[in-house]
Amino acid sequence: MESDRLHDEVLSQLEALRLAPGRPLIVSDADEVIFAFVRSLEGFLLDNGHFMDLQSFALSGNIRDSATRQPVSAEMVKSLIGDFFSERTEQIEPVDGAAEALSALSERAQILVLSNVPLDQIPARRRALVKNGMDYPLVANIGRKGSAMAYLAERHEAPIFFLDDIPHNISSVARKAETVTRLHFIADHRLRSLLGQAEDADVRIDDWPSVRSFIEGRLSEQGF
Ligand SMILES: [Mg+2]
Repeated sequence: MESDRLHDEVLSQLEALRLAPGRPLIVSDADEVIFAFVRSLEGFLLDNGHFMDLQSFALSGNIRDSATRQPVSAEMVKSLIGDFFSERTEQIEPVDGAAEALSALSERAQILVLSNVPLDQIPARRRALVKNGMDYPLVANIGRKGSAMAYLAERHEAPIFFLDDIPHNISSVARKAETVTRLHFIADHRLRSLLGQAEDADVRIDDWPSVRSFIEGRLSEQGF
């Protein structure tokens, strides 16, 4: 099981942030929230002798060898995903509407991208954000996201919103930073139909115009 502790490499990135505690904060995951991870991974797999057959909300067991049509081992899945990040992090496609919604929301809130991208891919992910009109600070997290969110929440006065596709990250934030409003978001149409709302999410929303309306509504209710 992945650890909930705050790694030193993550802490140093959090310490370097310059956030205004009195201004609302939106913390968004990257893969499957602002970047079309599964769709982009699928293209990479097809180019590399594999294909995806989504039967559940997981990569393990759902990646198959194109020649044998058999699912590949967990180690092979890990290795393919590692290669995908090394080769395609900069080319990954954005999710429809993400840049527009975040740009509008940035008039009322600070935006931070909290992504479990491998640390050595931080520069490539930053370039992808800039290239796609989302030039916001990036923190590369390790493990579940509750500890990083607790660090932020302890130093923040205004409302915080958190978006992620993976239920265990949402649960981790619920446990460690319960005041944070948690949005469960899954961009890919096939993936979203495989999973209901995460039990610790405040709301499930799968499109960016609706995220914008939801957050703007909450901010107005709270006088921001
Ligand atoms: Mg994700």
